[in-house]
Amino acid sequence: SAGPVSIFSEGWLKRVYDEKPVKEVRTRFPPEPNGYLHIGHAKAIAVNFGFAKHHKGVCFLRYDDTNPEKEEEKYFTSILDIIKWLGFEPYQITYSSDSFDRLYDLAEELIRRDGAYVCHCSREEVNRQRGGPDNRGARYACEHRTRSIESSLEEFRAMRDGKYKAGEAYLRMKQSLTDPNEGNPQMWDLPAYRVVAQNHHHRTGDRWKIYPTYDFTHCLCDAFENISHSMCTTEFQQSRVSYDWLLEKLDFKVPKSEEKGPMQREYGRLNVGGTILSKRRILMLVEGTTVEKKNADGATEKTVIPPAVRGWDDPRLYTLVALRRRGIPAQALLRFVEELGVTDALTEIQPFRLDSSIRKYLERTVPRQMLILDPIKVIIEDMTAEDEQEVTVPYDPKGTVPGQRTVKVGREVYIDRSDFREEDDPDYRRLAPNKLVGLYNFPFPIRATSFSKDESTGKVTEIRAVKATWTTEKTKTHIQWVDVATGIPVKARQYNSLFKSESPNTLDWKTGGWADDLRDDSEIVYPNAVIERGLKELIKERSLNPSDSSDNMVRFQALRVAYFCVDVESTEDEIVLNQIVSLREDKGK
Ligand code: ATP
Ligand code: MG
Ligand code: MG
Repeated sequence: SAGPVSIFSEGWLKRVYDEKPVKEVRTRFPPEPNGYLHIGHAKAIAVNFGFAKHHKGVCFLRYDDTNPEKEEEKYFTSILDIIKWLGFEPYQITYSSDSFDRLYDLAEELIRRDGAYVCHCSREEVNRQRGGPDNRGARYACEHRTRSIESSLEEFRAMRDGKYKAGEAYLRMKQSLTDPNEGNPQMWDLPAYRVVAQNHHHRTGDRWKIYPTYDFTHCLCDAFENISHSMCTTEFQQSRVSYDWLLEKLDFKVPKSEEKGPMQREYGRLNVGGTILSKRRILMLVEGTTVEKKNADGATEKTVIPPAVRGWDDPRLYTLVALRRRGIPAQALLRFVEELGVTDALTEIQPFRLDSSIRKYLERTVPRQMLILDPIKVIIEDMTAEDEQEVTVPYDPKGTVPGQRTVKVGREVYIDRSDFREEDDPDYRRLAPNKLVGLYNFPFPIRATSFSKDESTGKVTEIRAVKATWTTEKTKTHIQWVDVATGIPVKARQYNSLFKSESPNTLDWKTGGWADDLRDDSEIVYPNAVIERGLKELIKERSLNPSDSSDNMVRFQALRVAYFCVDVESTEDEIVLNQIVSLREDKGK
């Protein structure tokens, strides 16, 4: 057969290639550097970088930095970092702002070709010209549309030179506003340039007071970089016509042909339910917010809502930095995106689908460890010095994951509080007084004989047990355990969804109502957990830093508990674990 079928060798992405089967494929990933990337962007990265790789072409990382009010340096760094983490290397890193001079010259050229005019109408007036709020009314031109080319050139230069404040002048493309047969709003004289009030740009400084719009910039930058296939999400479907219109006007493209210039095609977004992806909303979760509410007397009161998460990389979020920190392997994430496939339809998934895909990947790739979240000490009173030993245990009982570690078998072990009951029950299969339980990889089962309790808290503090070597009774269940003498204390964090609601986007994001929907148990911390000493072996020579692009994080399956990774916050004195995913789908979580 012809090798593995990939999303690029069949279906939507194959058809996109077949429409323009060039030798030299050139794509671009064009993020706006105004926030951290989220899981949806993983799809955009997989599509653009993956397509280029599949066709032995190249992919640019283009920062679409035409909006000086919203951009920050830290976002630039993080975007590149995440692309590398996903295993891709940009052919070249470019900035839309590098082309500001060329774009400006082309704007003048467009005016000269009678393809743009300077307009001074208010936003409200422009909306009316475009058929009113529902875009259904009669459309009409303003007086500026017929002004002379010389007058538009002069005014455009005046815009550039600071004569106008924001909102007082726009360069508008002279498209088909007045053609009653043109039903596409993207052809109704879109703005090409605007005056920006807060105009200091992180790269071009104070040079520009006017900035080009997405509609003007994107297609031209694609042309400058000789992009062959320009793939974006379906909300830009209607923009394809204006994309081609501008390129044709400026001779970068030939009407009704894909021979010359870039070709735009649109695929469906990837959305995740049960969470928030909007940058503005995540920012509220990260920084908290202050809301104003009217109290009973009608007076306005300020309420401070504290942050709901620790940062943009909090494992409960679906930003890519958060998924990475939660321990999701880059390759597993990419595989997941590929499993979902690429078409022009929106892909809306619930988090459990991601979890189940990640779980399948981890199952085959990470070692097993024994971890006790809430330990109780068990003393096996009749254990002799000979019984104490080192046993060699494979990292994976099925042998899929190579390697092994030695586990110390001692007279005192920790088991989890949830694996013991003070009173037995015929249906109960774990440890209870006079009951037998197996311990994984332990030379014999044990039987509990008695226990002590802290009377003030009512909690069991210690269990005494004996070897159950002589019995014919069958061991029904095996539980995990950790040797008291050699175990390592750790802090373990488990995660549930942040919100009670399954559709947090429908919560009240204006007046802070979302805060009432936060779950108290979105993070559960076990401060006194203990893990077998083998974890130290795993940590040796591995990376705890999730931003290490080698993706060499320490991950493991804690038997009967969950998949975990070692968090970057860990120190010599305190190891911190993050749950990656549970062992099976927990209904109702
Ligand atoms: P958001 O507003 O959700 O942050 P955006 O479209 O403003 O998204 P950009 O930084 O402009 O974010 O996105 C860069 C590229 O990623 C664009 O080509 C965009 O279409 C694509 N992209 C953004 N969100 C998704 C998504 N949910 N699924 C697939 N691709 C996406
Ligand atoms: Mg965008
Ligand atoms: Mg955006």
